[in-house]
Amino acid sequence: MRNDYEIVIGLEIHVELKTESKIFCSCSTEFGAAPNTLCCPVCMGLPGALPTLNEKAAEYAVKAGLALNCDISERSAFDRKNYFYPDLPKAYQITQFFEPICRGGYVEIDTDNEKKRIGITEIHLEEDAGKLCHSEKGTAIDFNRCGVPLIEIVTEPHMRSADEAKAFLQKLRLLLLYTGISDCKMNEGSLRCDVNLSVRRHGQTEYGTRTEMKNINSFAFVKKAIEYEAQRQIDALERGERIVQETRRFDSQSGKTYSMRSKEDSCDYRYFPEPDLPALIVTKGKIEKLRRELPRLPDTRKADYKKYYSLGEYESDVLTSGIALADYFEECAKETEHRRTLANLILGELLSLQTSEDFKCNIAPKNLAKLSDLLGSARINSSTAKRLLREMYASDFDPEEAVIERSLLQINDKETLTKLVRQAIKENPKAAEDYRRGKLSAAKTIVGRVIKQTEGRANPTLTNEITEMELRSKL
Ligand code: ADP
Ligand code: ZN
Ligand code: MG
Repeated sequence: MRNDYEIVIGLEIHVELKTESKIFCSCSTEFGAAPNTLCCPVCMGLPGALPTLNEKAAEYAVKAGLALNCDISERSAFDRKNYFYPDLPKAYQITQFFEPICRGGYVEIDTDNEKKRIGITEIHLEEDAGKLCHSEKGTAIDFNRCGVPLIEIVTEPHMRSADEAKAFLQKLRLLLLYTGISDCKMNEGSLRCDVNLSVRRHGQTEYGTRTEMKNINSFAFVKKAIEYEAQRQIDALERGERIVQETRRFDSQSGKTYSMRSKEDSCDYRYFPEPDLPALIVTKGKIEKLRRELPRLPDTRKADYKKYYSLGEYESDVLTSGIALADYFEECAKETEHRRTLANLILGELLSLQTSEDFKCNIAPKNLAKLSDLLGSARINSSTAKRLLREMYASDFDPEEAVIERSLLQINDKETLTKLVRQAIKENPKAAEDYRRGKLSAAKTIVGRVIKQTEGRANPTLTNEITEMELRSKL
């Protein structure tokens, strides 16, 4: 990639909302049902059928807007986008063109050396289209997805590399998952991304001509598509060609983009206000109610963990990487003072036991808090803690009781440890002899014996110190 060019990227992201029913009718939005079983006259666009707005879809769009720092329009409206294509039985899509529900927000991402705000131009509500299934026999159409509620999030052209676009998408997905309005599964199509890209020479103030790549369905492909397309545009410009504004298809097999069609202008769609739906009014009171329903978002939580629990950047990042995990951590943290120990147990041991992508844990928060107290106050050592945690994960119990019943308390008593060390030295004259001859690592043998003899309960740091002291006194 030549470094005298700069890449300019703006994204349009479609997100399916997790409502039970479709946006303008009461058909189910269930994923994976038999083709054409979830349809009615409204979502099939039969003559005389009239749409009614699903209020939940509007509420979800507002929540998305709030999470992305947008201004919420108290009044927005629906429009018809006309196009003739088999996936759309009405021959128009109901969307918001003139008055979208949210405008002007931002998402903050971490780049290599700084935080950067990516502007959100607008969010609008719209209905999804059907799905075409191509095969050798021909093309079949499944209308189940017609009328599934979507929001389209449009960003400003603020991203400057594939990595920034990827960081933005990951952050956006995380924020939307926190709000609970979508399951954001790229592989099932509930989060789809169009990439607009142009290149320009460094120092050039106006943007270059852009191309648009539609419906890219994984983070990795977004990155590949950007890298390929940027290089293609640079090569073309270097040959003295002009970039044609067009829609291109990204082919994940070859990793290349191919011209599909010249880009439509908005006038091609003959947008006009939807006559069958009234304006969408969301009162100030309603907006505030929805704001109160939002959970604390990841950046707020991260800042709190660092400030109040003295956790580092990495720990805070991982603990906020899903809302279920963050909520669980906070439940536990309420019950223990040993929050760093708690964080380490979760990051080191608990997460490695997880088998699905969604965090799940049946250990009662107060029990994990107790385990953190036991370890944090050195009443048990870390290998005992890890062992107990694995057992609790399989079937929960109170670790304090278990430690007492099973005599697992760490031995921190100097006198007891000294006795054990002396005994071990006596039984291993060779190690003591080696040490005397200058092989200092022989001390490890003695420490190992003591740890083994106490079934891991001897405090390892203390045992080490005492062993060194005892061996040195014999020199
Ligand atoms: P349209 O109405 O044709 O879809 P928009 O102005 O709504 O065009 O922009 C669509 C997307 O393209 C936005 O995400 C925007 O940031 C991005 N975009 C616009 N101009 C450029 C450009 N020159 N280079 C890269 N992206 C661009
Ligand atoms: Zn329907
Ligand atoms: Mg647009």
